[in-house]
Amino acid sequence: MFPPGTTPLWRGLLPATGTARLENSTEETSGKASHKGGTTEALHRSVSQLTGFARCGEAYRLERVAKAPAAPAAWFAQGTAVHEAVERWERTHRVHGTAQAQAWFTEVWERELAEARAREPDLTQWLCPGRTKPETDIANRYQRGLDQVAGYIEHALASKLRPFEWLPGEPASEVEFRLDLDGVLVIGSIDLIMIAPDGRLLVRDIKTGNKLPIGPIQLAVYRHAVIDLTGQDPEWGDWYMAKNNKPTDPVDLRPYTRDMVSEWFAMMDRAERDQVYLPNPGDHCTTCGVRRFCSVMGTDRSFFGPSFATRK
Ligand code: SF4
Repeated sequence: MFPPGTTPLWRGLLPATGTARLENSTEETSGKASHKGGTTEALHRSVSQLTGFARCGEAYRLERVAKAPAAPAAWFAQGTAVHEAVERWERTHRVHGTAQAQAWFTEVWERELAEARAREPDLTQWLCPGRTKPETDIANRYQRGLDQVAGYIEHALASKLRPFEWLPGEPASEVEFRLDLDGVLVIGSIDLIMIAPDGRLLVRDIKTGNKLPIGPIQLAVYRHAVIDLTGQDPEWGDWYMAKNNKPTDPVDLRPYTRDMVSEWFAMMDRAERDQVYLPNPGDHCTTCGVRRFCSVMGTDRSFFGPSFATRK
C-alpha cells in the first residue's frame, strides 16, 4: 500500500511479465484459491499462506477455505497502524517528526478499530492476552503502538542502515513483488530492504508482537524476490522487533536456495490442492481467531467442520 502522492516510480518501469515485479497487491489480497469441482485451483500463493498452512492446517482451512468469521483482536489494529506509519515515514524520506508519524498511526488505528468493532461489537468476543479485559487491552495497545512508532524513528535515525533506493528517490519500504517459483506464483510485499554503508543489502520484516519468529522462511522468500527485482543478493535478513526498539541479529539466508524455497511452496501447493488440513494444537491456539470453530479446540466445532468445507 502506498501513501497518497507517493505512487512509486517503479510501477510502469518494470516488465509486465517476468519472474518478479512490483504490483499493487498485498499478502492479504493474495490468499485467493478457488475450489471448483472438488479441486483447488491456486491463483497464487503468499508467504502468509505458507507459514499459516505449516502452523496449523485446521486454522488455514477455517480462515481461507470455510471462511469462518475470525475473532477480532486489538493487536491486529496495532500491527497494521505501526506498519503504515513507518512506511509513510520512510517513503517521505524521513522528513517528518515523530508527532506526525504518530498522527498517521492514530489515523490508521481508528480506522482499523472501527472496522473491527463493526464486525464484532461485543468486546467479550475479542481475543485478549491472559486475563486482560478487552477495553484495557485496546487502551494498552494504542499506547504501545504510539511508543513503537517513536522507538522505530529513534532507532532508524541512529542506525547506519538506510532503506535501499534501487530507483532514485524511492525508499524500498513495503516493496511489492511477484515471484515465479517453478510455476507457483508467489505475491507479497517486503517491509523494508535496507542498505549498509558497504553497499550490502538486507531484507527486514517489522514485528509488533512479543514473539520472535522461529525460522526465517519469510526472509528467505524475500531474499529471492529481491534478487529478481534488483539483481542484487541480500544474503542476510533480520526482524525489527518493535517491542525492543531494535532489530534482531542478522540471519544468514545463503543456505536457503531458490530450489529449497520453491520446493516449500510446491509441497504446500500440492497438499492444499489435496485438501490436507491437519490440525496442530499448540501455544498458538491462544491467539487463534477461529478457535471457536476448531474441530479440536472449539465449542462450535460443527459449524464449519471438515465435511462441510472440504469433502463436498
Ligand atoms: S485452535 Fe489451535 S488447533 Fe485449532 S485451528 Fe486454531 S491453531 Fe489450529
